[in-house]
Amino acid sequence: MGKATGFIEIKREEAAERDPKKRLNDWKEYSAPFSDELMSRQGARCMDCGTPFCHIGTEINGATSGCPVYNLIPEWNDLVYRGKWKEALERLEKTNNFPEFTGRVCPAPCEGSCTVAISDPAVTIKNIERAIIDKGFENGWITPRIPAKRTGKTIAIVGSGPAGMASADQLNQAGHTITVFEKADRPGGLLMYGIPNMKLEKEVVERRIDLLRQEGIDFVTSTEVGKDITAEELKAKYDAVIVCTGAQKQRDLPLQGREAEGVHFAMDYLTASTKSLLGTKLEEGEWIDAEGKDVIVIGGGDTGADCIATALRQNCNSIVQFGKHPQLPLARTEDNAWPEFPKVFSVDYAHKEAEAKFGEDPRQYSIQTKKFVKDENGKLKELHTVQMKKVTDESGMFVYEEVPGTEKVWPAQLVLIAIGFEGPEQPVLQQFGVDTDNRKVKAVYGEFSTNVEGVFAAGDARRGQSLIVWAINEGREVARQVDHYLMGSSSLPSVAAM
Ligand SMILES: Cc1cc2nc3c(=O)[nH]c(=O)nc-3n(C[C@H](O)[C@H](O)[C@H](O)COP(=O)(O)OP(=O)(O)OC[C@H]3O[C@@H](n4cnc5c(N)ncnc54)[C@H](O)[C@@H]3O)c2cc1C
Ligand code: SF4
Repeated sequence: MGKATGFIEIKREEAAERDPKKRLNDWKEYSAPFSDELMSRQGARCMDCGTPFCHIGTEINGATSGCPVYNLIPEWNDLVYRGKWKEALERLEKTNNFPEFTGRVCPAPCEGSCTVAISDPAVTIKNIERAIIDKGFENGWITPRIPAKRTGKTIAIVGSGPAGMASADQLNQAGHTITVFEKADRPGGLLMYGIPNMKLEKEVVERRIDLLRQEGIDFVTSTEVGKDITAEELKAKYDAVIVCTGAQKQRDLPLQGREAEGVHFAMDYLTASTKSLLGTKLEEGEWIDAEGKDVIVIGGGDTGADCIATALRQNCNSIVQFGKHPQLPLARTEDNAWPEFPKVFSVDYAHKEAEAKFGEDPRQYSIQTKKFVKDENGKLKELHTVQMKKVTDESGMFVYEEVPGTEKVWPAQLVLIAIGFEGPEQPVLQQFGVDTDNRKVKAVYGEFSTNVEGVFAAGDARRGQSLIVWAINEGREVARQVDHYLMGSSSLPSVAAM
């Protein structure tokens, strides 16, 4: 249980970050190395409360609370406190296929529901998770696990993001023969092209994919299902198919002037940046450069923050992030009680970096874009906005209305639209003939089967744009269902069945 009095004696300490001013000069991860001793001390704060909401992931009021893969958090906190790192790794690997991803970029809903957090700062669960898996790789404890027997059953997985990778890993360990089709030139989904290198170094993603390859999984890249190979061909050739195509159809802002040169989708910008960073710029597309430009990111979420960090490293002249909503409160409000995910103000890595470079937080709240304005050459030159306020209408509903006299003109040569996603790309789903619900694949959680015999769906394609840890959960769960479908029973683990 950690140290019996640890939560009283020891203060929360997080792993340090590199100096924001210095890290802007490179594309390496922003986190700094941390010691075993720090992690052991932090593990001692876990009080093994007996009601560990931290390890039971669920959704409360539309947000995740607790760990969706049911990580055995109190157990490995204790093992790390006692210096038993290898045992901690064994426990961690029982529930999470890729802790090196979640330990770096998960928003840690486990910490929001940690019992210590009722009165004090939560246990640093995410840092401890990362420390365990990083130590596992450093010490050579993680080696390829090649299945002893093959069942002769074949499975095609469409999409190589965390959902596709997790289902491939589970089903491969069950002895099936797995082929993962990926339309991009590199596997990894949003882990590879989406989340920037500063948050998750691409060597970390490639290390895991190499391991999966050594274990027998075939990744077929630059192959778009629906174009390069048809859905019919996959259904005919494989015993089962899993659709893990993500939810990457970007939401647009079709305002006057949208066609101006210099207005881009966030994902196009982030993808081009990572491709260029990985050294294939000339072959694979345009590098959208922010150097010397006044940059505006429209959208107050994490994707927007990743755009800020990227533009800062490209040496932009200025940076602003527009959010539709007001600034969040500094502490939980009455309608956001523990163990819900805390909806409170926080300063992301990108915001710290913008402040270090320009002296202020780049965020503007309750703001709405009215139009884009271009110059005589069709290039973006400015953006017009108005402030909004939340009011209650006659039926008692909250609505936003413009505040008269708050119109403003912002000079801008680059605008990045990061206002969310509309769901999965539809053509491939239509080719499979799967039913959709609000654009997402219709497949009930826990069953994951679609209306088409032998075709399953998981991850963002099924639940909409979400989190890596949910993608891993769904990858594991769909694997068990597919194994059951092919073999009549399954010994793969499941939290849905608990
Ligand atoms: C910019 C950004 C930053 C994010 N940061 C975080 C974060 O810090 N923490 C977090 O927990 N979550 C984050 N998320 C969300 C998280 O990345 C996703 O929820 C997760 O990656 C979903 O996994 P997935 O496997 O379902 O889909 P994806 O990761 O989207 O992978 C789907 C894959 O399918 C491929 N594909 C699609 N159609 C086809 C086809 N027809 N044929 C072949 N391949 C196809 C795509 O190319 C893609 O590689 C972020 C999302 C974005 C956009
Ligand atoms: S995967 Fe996320 S929610 Fe689960 S223990 Fe790790 S940081 Fe917490």
